[in-house]
Amino acid sequence: MTARWAAPGRVNLIGEHVDYQDGLVLPFALPQHTTATVERQSGDQVRVRSRGEQEEFQVASTPGQVQGWAAYVAGVVWSLREEGADVPGLSIDVDSDVPVGAGLSSSAAIECAVAAAIGDELALQLSAASLATIARRAENSYVGVPTGSMDQMASMLCERGHALLLDCRDLSTRQVPFDLDAASLTLLVINTRAEHSLVGSEYADRRHDCEAAADELGLSSLRDAEQADLPRISDPVHRRRAQHVVSEIARVREVASILDAGRPADIGAQLSASHQSLRDDFEVSCDELDEAVDAALVAGALGARMTGGGFGGCAIALARDDEATDVRRRVDAAFDRRGWQPADIFEVSPNRGAHRLD
Ligand code: ADP
Ligand code: MG
Repeated sequence: MTARWAAPGRVNLIGEHVDYQDGLVLPFALPQHTTATVERQSGDQVRVRSRGEQEEFQVASTPGQVQGWAAYVAGVVWSLREEGADVPGLSIDVDSDVPVGAGLSSSAAIECAVAAAIGDELALQLSAASLATIARRAENSYVGVPTGSMDQMASMLCERGHALLLDCRDLSTRQVPFDLDAASLTLLVINTRAEHSLVGSEYADRRHDCEAAADELGLSSLRDAEQADLPRISDPVHRRRAQHVVSEIARVREVASILDAGRPADIGAQLSASHQSLRDDFEVSCDELDEAVDAALVAGALGARMTGGGFGGCAIALARDDEATDVRRRVDAAFDRRGWQPADIFEVSPNRGAHRLD
């Protein structure tokens, strides 16, 4: 038997840098996805092929034993075994059109496609949410990247025409309608292709700032903080970080309720406010992201923001269909003027999460 599954990358519509403070996030699945084709083979080895490369490792490998891209696959096998699964020798073929390293979660896409395909091939009867947990553990404990649960939950659970409202405190989810076509809207992903160093250390600093702010308020996380609490935070930097988290969680709620009311064209102001907050209070933007957002807004976008961790990667811009071309042109022109390599700009709409391919 062969099992073949697709799992998408994702973009976060709003709710940035709040996952590790028990916040709310609102990602949706991209049309770009990774497929994994899994077949049993004799022996106790896993052979995996992707992008013209082939790697092989022991089914019983443990964290640290497999490095490089194959660690994402070895991590899933390890994580399934941690879950109690009896994994035999396997042959796994991976294929993907998710941009790699751009903050669109090609890592969750490969983990989720592989986890779902192996789960299916071995008839493990795992729910989509448990597959997301298994995939996340692969990334956190095997690959060694300390991410939250958004990426894998989005890749497994999203539905076409919807964004996924995920509560990072208890991992509860709700599908929120986000039908761009029906509203004659275009959502552009602007991959700046910028990569700045210090991303890891800045990320750790922000987490620390937020923890310190929550501590001072006597809270386990900033999820429970309110605007009125913020003046009690003595360190001005910690106070601004908390200001971002508290206002961002409020914006997620507001966007979800506007989308529930079927008014997707009205979320623009919240998107742009999120960008300002990430730029000024949380300080995780960069020139390329700011330029992309500013150019999009000048061109008439309804709203635009950086998305993902920051310091490079992607921005998103929401525009009426008839203004999308102008947004692209303005961003291209702005990047050209600054002498930067052109941004990769493409249209996306909310797609379905992981699913079996026949
Ligand atoms: P992002 O998730 O934003 O794309 P990450 O750094 O988290 O960026 O993950 C990218 C890494 O995931 C790649 O460097 C590679 O190791 C692995 N990866 C993602 N997709 C594939 C693929 N199709 N084949 C092999 N490795 C992949
Ligand atoms: Mg990733």
